[in-house]
Amino acid sequence: MHDLIIVGAGTAGSVLAERLTASGKLRVLLIEAGGRPNSLYVSMPAGFAQLFKSKFDWALESEPQSAKKGKRIFTPRGKMLGGSSNLNAQIHQWCHPADFDGWEQAGATGWGWKDVATVFQFQENWTGEQGEYTRGRQGPMFIAPNINAHPLSRAFVKAAHSIGLNGQKDYNGGHYQGAWVCQLAHRGGKRFSAYNAYLEPAMRRSNLEVLTGAHATRIGFEQGRATSVTVKIDGTERTYRAGKGIVLACGAIGSPHLLMHSGIGPAAELNRLGIPVQVDAPEVGENLQDHPALPLVIPTSGTDTMKNATSLSCLAKYLLLKRGMLASNGIEAFAFTHSNGNTDAAPDIELLCAPFEWRCEGLEPPAKHAFCVACIVAAPHSRGRLTLKNADPLAPPAIDFNLLNDPQGKDVAIMLAAISLFKKIISTSPLSQLLDPTSAAQMARETEQALLNQSAEELQTVYHPSSTCRMGSDARSVVDPQLRVRGVQNLWVVDASVMPSVPRGHPNAVVAMIAQRAAEFIQ
Ligand SMILES: Cc1cc2nc3c(=O)[nH]c(=O)nc-3n(C[C@H](O)[C@H](O)[C@H](O)COP(=O)(O)OP(=O)(O)OC[C@H]3O[C@@H](n4cnc5c(N)ncnc54)[C@H](O)[C@@H]3O)c2cc1C
Repeated sequence: MHDLIIVGAGTAGSVLAERLTASGKLRVLLIEAGGRPNSLYVSMPAGFAQLFKSKFDWALESEPQSAKKGKRIFTPRGKMLGGSSNLNAQIHQWCHPADFDGWEQAGATGWGWKDVATVFQFQENWTGEQGEYTRGRQGPMFIAPNINAHPLSRAFVKAAHSIGLNGQKDYNGGHYQGAWVCQLAHRGGKRFSAYNAYLEPAMRRSNLEVLTGAHATRIGFEQGRATSVTVKIDGTERTYRAGKGIVLACGAIGSPHLLMHSGIGPAAELNRLGIPVQVDAPEVGENLQDHPALPLVIPTSGTDTMKNATSLSCLAKYLLLKRGMLASNGIEAFAFTHSNGNTDAAPDIELLCAPFEWRCEGLEPPAKHAFCVACIVAAPHSRGRLTLKNADPLAPPAIDFNLLNDPQGKDVAIMLAAISLFKKIISTSPLSQLLDPTSAAQMARETEQALLNQSAEELQTVYHPSSTCRMGSDARSVVDPQLRVRGVQNLWVVDASVMPSVPRGHPNAVVAMIAQRAAEFIQ
């Protein structure tokens, strides 16, 4: 029997597996539904969208979204060792001090900026220049500047600077407002994920056993204690027991899903499906948040966009030198600011750009040479929910993001402000000189509302689901600030689902930080 079982080997599960086996005192079993990340598209930075709808992706679909004219949102999630850290766009961001101070105010005691900033520092190995904030130089997560960023992305940053978005040099380590080429989880021209940083080295330890291709279907309890995990492997059911506890790290979709199938969730809902109730936990699956993103595409005047990334010369450059377009993550630069123009306020707008035509939620290759800017609500007010469709634990849940749908219409107002900022930046040199002038002028003439209406069917998320097992100090929260599931013993949730709110930016580093701290609580 193992001491601990971790379910899910994604960003959080990789960190947990390494941290919990480091002392050698605990025998740990790590259970993962996917397999090994053995695809060139995992390691090649520009390859991540090629993994969509492959065996490495859960390839989920949301419920129809009114803000997307009734269409569903494609929802990729990593299904392999490394999870979404091996399928993501590799942007490294600590996120904003106000995010964590907001968590603390909402009841996540001990998770304020003063508690978490040093953990980000400790985990990273920043290989770029020193800015105004102190960065980590010795951690296991290699973080590099994007030396392969395209001239279009660099022009976007310069244009943003020249309209006043020229905050500090570094966006990691404190308050940020400005525009930058994104820092990446890269090493030597390759993705360097949580799997590379944590799990791969830990797999050499004799006290860590890793089970792949094992879909966890149920947590078992004895006298209120979590004691076992039942999995399906190739259609066969097996049960594994743990002496000291079970940690769920299945992500913001997988963890509430598994909790509900194990009887921890809204009692009425579970009763309706005939699932025996272990704990009536009304907020499991509630509070779902993600960043709504409206991709706006403008044809370029030149023909040197990332549409050419699949050319033989780009491939050769990547394979021989680990340089060029394929060594970039493709989603290269961003700008953050506040919709009310206050540069001291924590940002609520993000513009995220790509030097190619982002088509059909990344599922189709570019058809023309173009530049894409996604207008994003960085601090959304809308709340969605995740529910069970039926009692089959292998069936995907119903995911309703409820994007741009808060009762006061705040998210739509922020989105319109983001579109307005987009119009300013595309009209500003040097970016304006690289775009097709007729198309850019036509877009700049449209009202923000017209651009939102025209592109509504392209609305998507930034793939940052969170908060479905909210951490808090109140009785309704799913986990307490030490990430213990309320109402049972020896069960923790450690992943993006415990965040009280989705942070202002790209949350992979935040999930790694949560797991680092959780390992200390659990030990
Ligand atoms: C396409 C994409 C692009 C992104 N880009 C960025 C980016 O550039 N920067 C950034 O900061 N963030 C990005 N993100 C988000 C970031 O990667 C996630 O927030 C983070 O990886 C979440 O970590 P997690 O541990 O909560 O979940 P995951 O990493 O998703 O891990 C969950 C793991 O649990 C496994 N699992 C789930 N259910 C079960 C089950 N029942 N049984 C067994 N195993 C199970 C899954 O297979 C998976 O391996 C992106 C995400 C995606 C999908």
